[in-house]
Amino acid sequence: MTHSWLDDIAAANRSFRDRIRPQRLMTDGPTGRGVITCKDPRVNLAAVGVRAFGEDGFQDSHVAIIRTAGARVDERSLLVAVFLADVTELLVLGHTDCGVKKAHDEVQKIRAQMEARLTPQALAAFHDEVGDSSDDLRSWIKTFTDPRTAVRDEIAHIRSLSFAPSDLLIHGAVYDVATGAVSIVT
Ligand SMILES: [Zn+2]
Repeated sequence: MTHSWLDDIAAANRSFRDRIRPQRLMTDGPTGRGVITCKDPRVNLAAVGVRAFGEDGFQDSHVAIIRTAGARVDERSLLVAVFLADVTELLVLGHTDCGVKKAHDEVQKIRAQMEARLTPQALAAFHDEVGDSSDDLRSWIKTFTDPRTAVRDEIAHIRSLSFAPSDLLIHGAVYDVATGAVSIVT
């Protein structure tokens, strides 16, 4: 039998269930605050007081977390967070050395990989949808060159959404993956 990630997942879950105290598992949802940040695992939310889950499964931060490439908001997630989970205050947390900045700089590599791995038909369908230039791909990915500017732009984008309540409080900050420092943008 080949060893797969699924085997690792099953083993990890057996170990987790042996180790945790289930009564300390967080079973309540978020209360009022949400973080929109990058899916990059280097963005450690403990840096902004959102505690990671401990080895015993305990976590008490109760912050809604939306993680997407480049800390760009997912509108579905935001709508549910605001109108179902009662999130009234948001932090948009960008970070240094983001892969989405890298995607901006290395868009040619992405294009070459897509050409190598997709069928011509699939590639044509993608180009029909997105456009076929490097800049089309960059704007579809929502790449950026400066994380502070990206955070400001994303906050402006959130404010422009038709469903964003005018009293939604939105903060912006950038996490430095090299030092752990968080600098406030707005
Ligand atoms: Zn990132």
